Amino acid sequence: MKTFLFSTSPLDTAALQRDMRDVTCGGFAAFEGWVRNHNEGLDVTRLEYEAFAELAEKEGARIVDEAIARFGVTRAACVHRVGSLALGDVAVWVGVSAAHRDEAFRACRYIIDEVKHRVPIWKKEHYVNGDSGWVNCERCAMPAAHTHEHDHAHGHAHPQVHTPDYSRQIALREVGMEGQARLRGASVLVVGAGGLGVPVLQYLAGAGVGRLGIVDADRLEPSNLHRQTWYALADCGREKSTLAAERVRALNPEVRVESHTLRLDDSNAERLAAGHDLILDCSDNFATKFLLNDLALRLRKPVLFASVYQYEGQLQLVRGDDATACLRCVWPEATRDGLVGNCAEAGVLGPVPGVFGSLQALEALKLLLGLPGLAADEMLIFDLISLHTQRLRARRAADCDAHRRAGAAVAAPAPVELEVRFASLTEAQAAGYTFIDVRDARERADEPLPSAAIHLPMSKLLIEAATLDAGMRYLLVCATGKRSAAAASLLRSQGFSECRSLQGGLKGLKATA
Ligand SMILES: [Zn+2]
Repeated sequence: MKTFLFSTSPLDTAALQRDMRDVTCGGFAAFEGWVRNHNEGLDVTRLEYEAFAELAEKEGARIVDEAIARFGVTRAACVHRVGSLALGDVAVWVGVSAAHRDEAFRACRYIIDEVKHRVPIWKKEHYVNGDSGWVNCERCAMPAAHTHEHDHAHGHAHPQVHTPDYSRQIALREVGMEGQARLRGASVLVVGAGGLGVPVLQYLAGAGVGRLGIVDADRLEPSNLHRQTWYALADCGREKSTLAAERVRALNPEVRVESHTLRLDDSNAERLAAGHDLILDCSDNFATKFLLNDLALRLRKPVLFASVYQYEGQLQLVRGDDATACLRCVWPEATRDGLVGNCAEAGVLGPVPGVFGSLQALEALKLLLGLPGLAADEMLIFDLISLHTQRLRARRAADCDAHRRAGAAVAAPAPVELEVRFASLTEAQAAGYTFIDVRDARERADEPLPSAAIHLPMSKLLIEAATLDAGMRYLLVCATGKRSAAAASLLRSQGFSECRSLQGGLKGLKATA
């Protein structure tokens, strides 16, 4: 049986499920995508799907095969409707049978996400007002494809399906395959999809950061375009968060992107920040900046701030810990909005936010890759008229209100330190740790661990993390303690709250022996 199919008639999901039955499997997960009655504020009456069938079937089958290999599931299949669909119809069905439920869920999720991003399928929505429009045409990614009057005649040949290629950054010694895996495992929330957010999103998506969240409440205006050159004049009037998400998908379909059309406030900030490793402040107002500052301290999550004003700007990393400065340490009298103008009132040259957004993306990548960069206790100020740069010390103020409030809030569950020192592996074992050796095969052959260990090179870590028990006390080990620390922080972000890294690595053990 084909693992990826198109169907012109309504799907018999009961029959599809019967086909997936397997007595060797303990778990079955299915996903159904339904035709709903609204999209982006418009009332939808029915849908049409059109596919570039031959190419789409090949790519669809490839995705199902990838899911089977990647998650080790027993069976997987996906059926997609084409033609005319009514409200409530099942538009796409994914089923996965596996030995255990976790793989079944994950493979199911993988298939639906990849199908949405990679398979050339187009959707035409018919609206209550008699209008219709092609949507989700991520593959075309032409600005005109998103306007309602665009005639989406599929006479134009779709080029061969390309896949993202990170070879030019993997070639950097500091990045390599391990760095690429770290980026793929990373998740960044970008607040603001304007002058700063545009370069930030372009570079993070291009670099293959695995998941991007976009928050922006505004619609695109013609006056934005001199600095937000990712968008097109024809896009004016559309929500920037939606536009930015479309651009990200067109640039790199491997990125999981979520867009939120809303203004960040106390009621939603914590929920939006959840699950992201890093937050980038690309907003243009102080209310948002201070809200993010306080959130950084409360969640102990790093926020990288950028601000521009006319011809200059500044960059500051707030790590969210007790020891380093936050915005309120530096600006105790929180600058009220209006005191310093934003771009709308003060004016700005287009490349100025472009430079700072690029710097912000660069610092974000350095942070995710564990490269040295902007310290948490300094501020970079760059005047683009004189090209004069300054790095100012940002001191942690002893009487900082935000720090005091956050200290009280997080006093109870102190997070387990990421790194731990032991005199020997025997001592670590006695302390109840199970070892995970993240070195590659050659290093292990040269210097095997004396005790039992799970072998999990960095490149496999994220994929294989699913097979590990998040409640276990794992001690990650490498030669010097660097990679293991990176791996441990990666696992922490996946819910492994007890895992730690052997400080100094195996070299450190030898030095103390
Ligand atoms: Zn502070």
